This record gives sequence, structure tokens and C-alpha cells, in this order.
Amino acid sequence: MNYYSLNNKSNIVSFQEAVIQGLASDKGLFFPESIVALPDSFFEHIEHLSHEEIAFEAIKQFVGNEIPASELKQIVNETLSFDFPLVKVDDNVFSLELFHGPTMAFKDVGARFMSRCLAYFNRNDDKKITVLVATSGDTGGAVANGFLGVKGVDVLILYPSGKVSDIQERQLTTLGQNIKALEVDGFFDDCQDMVKKAFMDADLQHKNLTSANSINIARWLPQMFYFFFAYKELKKYNKPLIIACPSGNFGNICAGIVAKKLGLPIAHFVAATNANDAVPQFLKSGNYSAKPSVATISNAMDVGNPSNFIRIQEMYNNDLKAFEKDFTSYSFTDEETLFEMQNIYTNSGYIAEPHGTVGYLGLKCELENFHNAIGVFLETAHPIKFLDIVEPTLGIILPIPKQIESVLNKDKKSTKIKSYSELKNYLLTF
Ligand SMILES: *Cc1c(COP(=O)(O)O)cnc(C)c1O
Repeated sequence: MNYYSLNNKSNIVSFQEAVIQGLASDKGLFFPESIVALPDSFFEHIEHLSHEEIAFEAIKQFVGNEIPASELKQIVNETLSFDFPLVKVDDNVFSLELFHGPTMAFKDVGARFMSRCLAYFNRNDDKKITVLVATSGDTGGAVANGFLGVKGVDVLILYPSGKVSDIQERQLTTLGQNIKALEVDGFFDDCQDMVKKAFMDADLQHKNLTSANSINIARWLPQMFYFFFAYKELKKYNKPLIIACPSGNFGNICAGIVAKKLGLPIAHFVAATNANDAVPQFLKSGNYSAKPSVATISNAMDVGNPSNFIRIQEMYNNDLKAFEKDFTSYSFTDEETLFEMQNIYTNSGYIAEPHGTVGYLGLKCELENFHNAIGVFLETAHPIKFLDIVEPTLGIILPIPKQIESVLNKDKKSTKIKSYSELKNYLLTF
């Protein structure tokens, strides 16, 4: 399968090149040249297929013949080696829990898939790659864990000193081997700016730098699997299905729209945001304007200019009317989120963390427009990752899961940096 750059459609690369480059040379995001719907027979029998079989069928056209089927099956099996339970919260509302992976963040799936694709491309030891990633918290841990020990790949994670939680810091600073943590004296935006500068720096070309956030197709596309898993469980109800994603960079929901293009019967999508409301505002006014991000309690979604929104617009040929038929977006304040988190717990006993709660709020709004529909919100992180908020709000103490316990007694190893020149030096010498 080939991919074109959204900045210039004649800039075309293979799957492998798109994964290795991350971003096109003209700074555009890569997009698949075609999306061919899966046969009806696949959906007729989906409830009899395993997660691994579903995922393989969904992803194979996007890889094409660049990874042999047997290898791709192996990659998919390793990527999905944990559960994705669908938990009933209200009569017609389910939580799809995406946090049962090794770092308890939904980004585990994309990170695991991408790292294994890179390992395959480096099978002859001739394509050494450096993954550079800036994190405000959860991405770093998932990438560190997903890439640990992968041959031919070095991973450098930049995080803002003192601005990630203790658990998140341990998840990205304690692994060692090919994972290096750089502790930046600054904010998340400073980390991201340094990463962008490094990608454009001619002196670093020979390092084969790539990104591991959702601009990379190998991290973005596997997120479509979740939507198939939800449908597999809920098909038996024979009702319209509405799926709400708590959205930041809009990678997750954009992958859901790819699933719909593949024929998955999803009646409607809801992109639920926190106060970072560039997309809900766009749907109201018709004008898109990026904004500086504002800090909220659902901090993994504090994105002022969602990078994947341009991919969504591409899938609808920039036709706002067609887009609005399938897609609604709502924004919620921290106060609304805390109030609802408490409400959900009181009414059903379900413990939702802030991101999932924003998704739930969006789903509830949309269900008022649909009769007889069934709704799913994606729960994107384990509540323990946001215990500072969840425990006092609900008045409970959360038990520590084993994935988290295993990093708590390990020693932190990081290198402190202050400026881009220090990052560059590090990259040239490590
Ligand atoms: C990254 C993240 C999101 C947002 O996902 P996008 O694909 O960027 O929209 C939501 N919740 C959590 C917990 C995350 O880590």
C-alpha cells in the first residue's frame, strides 16, 4: 500500500517508508492511497472471529505485501496480548476498556504495533532508527514499554521535568536498555518544539529520526481495532451503534472513521473534548482556528491544534455537511467532568477516570438525538493513572495494579537538558 502526503498528493511513499519517516519531507501527514471496504461475509461472521483474526483482516490492506502475512499475524498477535473488556455502565451505555495493556494506557496498542513493524524492517540490521517522542505523560510510558528491547531502534523520550505524575515518570525512566529519558527544564510545548527542530535539522539526517505519536501511520491505524471489537460484542442487539472518543490529537477517532470506511456499521461518532475545543468550535462556526492549549484534569487531551483532524477532513473531502451526518463534537469543563465522574460512580458503581468521563458526557448528549441506539465510550486510561483526581473525587482508595507495582521500586534514570543544542549534542554522541 502507498501513502501520499496531505501537503502534496504527488509525494508518494510505501508503507515502510511512511513508518520510517513518520512525517513526509514536506511536513505533511501521510494518508493511505485507498481504503477498500471489507467483504460483507466478514461482518456476517465477525462474532465468531478472535480479536487477532479481526485485526489482521482490518490492517492487512494498509501494509500490503511489505510484511508477509505470517509475520504480520505474529505482529498483530503480540500487539493484542491483553483484554479489551466491554463493561455495562447504564442500560444502553457501555465502557470499552482500553487500559489493560502493560502501561494501562490505550496507546499501548499503537506503540506495540509500530515497534514491531520497525523491528521487521530492521531484520537485516541495516536500518537503525531513532524514535524521538515528546510526552505530556501517557505516550512516553507506552512508547518506552512498546519499544523496549526492539533491535535496531533507540528511543529518546523528552518529558517536562516535574510536570508528569510520579507513576508516569517511573514508567518512562526506569526501563533502561534502548530507552533513554531526557528530562527537560520546561513545559510539554518546549519538549515538542525541540523534537520538531530535530526532525528538520540537516545535521541529524543520518540518525534516521522518526516520531512515535499518532502522526505515524503505524501508531495511528491499529487504533481502528477497538471499534471492530466493540461491534463484535454489540452486534447481537441489532441497534444503531454510537461510539464516543475522548479526543485530544484526534488520532483515535480518526482511526474509527477508517473502520467505518472499511464497512463497519457505526451509526455515529462523538468526539468529546475538554476545554480545548478547536473542533467543536469549528463545527459550530465552520471556521477552523488552532488555539494555544489550556491545562485541564484530562491532561492527555490538552491539545490546541489536533494534528489528525486534517486526516478526518480528507476522508470527507472537506465536505462539512457529509461530515456532520456522521460526526458530532462536544466540549466539557473540568467542573462538569468531576460532577459526572461522581454521578457515574453513585449510579452504577463504575469508576471512570477524567478522560473516559469526558467521553461518557459526550455520549450521553448524543444519545438524546437517537432513539433505540446503543452507546459505547472509550475508557482510555486506568483510573490509577489519575489517582490524584479520582480518589478524592470519589472518596475511595484504588488498589495498585500489578503493571504499576512493577515500576514503583525501580530507580529513575534520566538526563537533564535545558535547550535544543543540548538535545542535539546528545543525539550526536549517545
Ligand atoms: C492520548 C489520550 C487521549 C486522546 O487520544 P487522541 O487519539 O489523541 O485523540 C485520550 N485519553 C488518554 C488517556 C490519552 O492518553
